[in-house]
Amino acid sequence: MQKILVANWKMNHSLKSANDFAKKFIPLVKDSRNKIIICPPFPLLPAMKENFFRTAILLGAQNAYFENSGAFTGETSPALLKDFCAHVIIGHSERRNIFSETDEIVNKKILLALENNLIPIVCIGESLEVREKNSAEKFLGSQLSNSLKNLNEPQISKIIIAYEPIWAIGTGKTASPQQAQETHAFVRNWLSKKYSLQLAQKIPILYGGSAKPENAKSLLSQKDIDGLLVGGASLDAELFAKIANC
Ligand code: PEP
Repeated sequence: MQKILVANWKMNHSLKSANDFAKKFIPLVKDSRNKIIICPPFPLLPAMKENFFRTAILLGAQNAYFENSGAFTGETSPALLKDFCAHVIIGHSERRNIFSETDEIVNKKILLALENNLIPIVCIGESLEVREKNSAEKFLGSQLSNSLKNLNEPQISKIIIAYEPIWAIGTGKTASPQQAQETHAFVRNWLSKKYSLQLAQKIPILYGGSAKPENAKSLLSQKDIDGLLVGGASLDAELFAKIANC
């Protein structure tokens, strides 16, 4: 089955290193049957669009604001982004924790991204403290219901969800495939109760947190893991190609 592999470059790469990445990466993944989405920093989107022209590689942004235009210095609107990419990561834990994005803000961003025909990759995930208190499902349920508030069935059917346990992001600690599968099954079940089983089965649920070539296959072989959101290992063309070719 086709999987979705998303590269979150965060605030990394220069114009030169991103162009070098593209040159190396394109031939390495030309036979991949998976959907590959690269999310570079905003200023690199035009160059990457040119690099990936006539390839199957898609682009995404790492964030978008919840207004289409106006006096919002430093922000980028989904109305502008849609000319450069088809996807946008929303609610990454770094946005939530470093930039104080609440579920309410995440919800507004998702709704406006959808209005602009961008596909939101909606991130959710619990901290180590929450997991150790055995409260992960309660926490994730609340993140889901607040972040996806007021999304109707046609809207929800367009989104991608990424489960990223905060304790596994950039730490080298990966959730075990069984641990990730258990949480993905919880998310699928939550969606099925809130909407329908049919709809829940159509929504891709990606795992993120120290994914690398060594663990990608076993994570992707889990029933409810439809793809991976990759940070660190997506910066290197060869490493990410190994993951993208899984
Ligand atoms: C991420 O930031 O979305 C992520 C999963 O990072 P890493 O792969 O480096 O843990």
